[in-house]
Amino acid sequence: MKILVFNAGSSSLKFGIFDVSIEDSRVFKGEFEGFKNGACTLHYRIGGEQSEAQKRSESLNTIKDAIVRVPEILKEFGYDQFDAIGHRVAHGWERFHNATLINTEVLKHIEACTPFAPLHNPANLKAITISQGLWPDLPQVAVFDTAFHHTIPDCAYTYAVPKEWRDKGLRRYGFHGTSHKYVGLRVARELKRPVTALQIISCHLGNGASVCAINRGFSVDTSMGMTPLEGLVMGTRSGDVDPGMFTYLVRELGLSIEEIEHQLYANSGLKALAGSHDLREVEQKAAEGDTDAQLAINVYAYRVRKYIGAYTAAMGGVDVIAFTGGIGENSASMRRRVCDKFEFLGLHLDDDKNQSIKLKGFEAPQAQSFDSRIKVIVTQTCEQLMIAQEVKYLLAQRESVQTQKWHVPVAVSARHVHLSQEAVEVLFGKGYRLRKMRSLSQPEGWAAEETVEVIGPKGFFKTVRVLGPTRKQTQIEVSKTDTFTLGVEVPVRPSGKLEHTPFIKLRGTIGEIVTNGLIIAARHIHMSPADATKMGLKDGDYVDVKLGNGERSVSFANTLIRAKEGYVTEMHIDTDEANAAGIAFQTKGELVMNETCSEADIVAKKNMELNGRKTA
Ligand code: ADP
Repeated sequence: MKILVFNAGSSSLKFGIFDVSIEDSRVFKGEFEGFKNGACTLHYRIGGEQSEAQKRSESLNTIKDAIVRVPEILKEFGYDQFDAIGHRVAHGWERFHNATLINTEVLKHIEACTPFAPLHNPANLKAITISQGLWPDLPQVAVFDTAFHHTIPDCAYTYAVPKEWRDKGLRRYGFHGTSHKYVGLRVARELKRPVTALQIISCHLGNGASVCAINRGFSVDTSMGMTPLEGLVMGTRSGDVDPGMFTYLVRELGLSIEEIEHQLYANSGLKALAGSHDLREVEQKAAEGDTDAQLAINVYAYRVRKYIGAYTAAMGGVDVIAFTGGIGENSASMRRRVCDKFEFLGLHLDDDKNQSIKLKGFEAPQAQSFDSRIKVIVTQTCEQLMIAQEVKYLLAQRESVQTQKWHVPVAVSARHVHLSQEAVEVLFGKGYRLRKMRSLSQPEGWAAEETVEVIGPKGFFKTVRVLGPTRKQTQIEVSKTDTFTLGVEVPVRPSGKLEHTPFIKLRGTIGEIVTNGLIIAARHIHMSPADATKMGLKDGDYVDVKLGNGERSVSFANTLIRAKEGYVTEMHIDTDEANAAGIAFQTKGELVMNETCSEADIVAKKNMELNGRKTA
């Protein structure tokens, strides 16, 4: 399957043809840039990643002219046969969580997002409308920069501003999502570990720049905010500034809003500090003793370090720091400046390895020394390739969803505790054995007669049911609402993944323990391997699940598949989720065809039709 990808910016147009059925899938890549006096430069590469980069001049005035020229260029090089078109779209607001087939309604929504990305969305829209005219019969898909970040929790995306503003959509959205997602997956492949087992900080350092905390496959924070202006120092953008600055500039210096916006987007960042937006020139000037350039480099590196430190804390750990984008890929000295202060976390860079990295194709070399706990990986960002994969995935999935319906019963889990035998003996007495009260739906588990008191710094729950049999590690499962009663911030985790989980006090009939293992259980579906195979799923996949009917129906994204011999196929959600969905005994759900359902890679999605069943 061949896919044409457009990435239209305010001053350049990137495009490419990707054959997503082969390994080195980038078969043609082009970029028009440097529009000036009726001409621009076309950079292109024919064949895969190893082929030679070429360029030539083109007589074109604008991005619009360049888009119209693309079919002729593709024809000239013999790449004019393709099956679908993918468009990068900068801002998808809260509406788009996945790649989306473009129709009139979707186009309207993209237009409505424009005030949040005034420099980017209009260019993306232009590419869409022109290519709809050129190729009216091909599926056209929008892939949003913001989509990967839809999993960022409310505590990270909320600005502490008046509610009326927040109600108008003022919140953090994040950008570069396609790049960060690609980097997360590439890192996992390089380390031969599932992305869901890794805590990655992805640093996309190009002309635009952002850092993303990818916690076990999901974006949990990123440095760009409501617009692509927040966060790191960039080529020409300021990144973080004190919002108090705006009123000062208006009131004291008499600047207009348009002037301030222009200066922050186009005349700030490296350009403002060192006179050039190009880090190569800044590094050259700094080496020649220019103190402005030296300061610019220090400010740049300091900001990246600050975000890495913050995101390590946000995730409660980090396994990998990944670098991409023109600066991340090419500037060994910037990588070193960023990494050097993290010795205290166990990050040791190998200078020779770092210095000698010259990326070819899809490589992802490591730059840490042998004794480093944290890995440092450098890789080219492949946003367009990722867009092509998203398009392929969306189209394949629509086909499979249209032909198949699946049904899974739903069970609701109230708060409960799994204990280790050691904990049982402290809480209930030496040699004590849990006593079975009743069976549960999964054959291996049962409710015990025993209950414990769960005591947090703010509040407590008196009689929390213990579930048997005993496990290696004690695990306490509560709902998000419960965490506010207890007064502890608790992560969402799959069962058994208890590293860096908070401590809590448990009281039994005889004694007390303080133990870690307090989690909000990630919603999941227990599945027999036979059912999983039938549905095209495997252990560790994620699916979207729609529950209920009518105005209270909800869709639960990112539901983990836990497939194991002996499991009875059943979805488990907690009481908060059940209340949100208004689950009642034997509630029936219906399959909903949703044009926004695609997420290549970690999230193997299927829409499902469900029967709701309340068991707790
Ligand atoms: P964009 O965000 O426009 O795609 P790029 O990812 O191409 O930008 O990154 C452009 C930045 O990368 C520029 O600041 C450029 O100076 C920097 N860069 C490219 N090559 C090098 C290099 N060898 N050393 C230092 N910086 C580099």
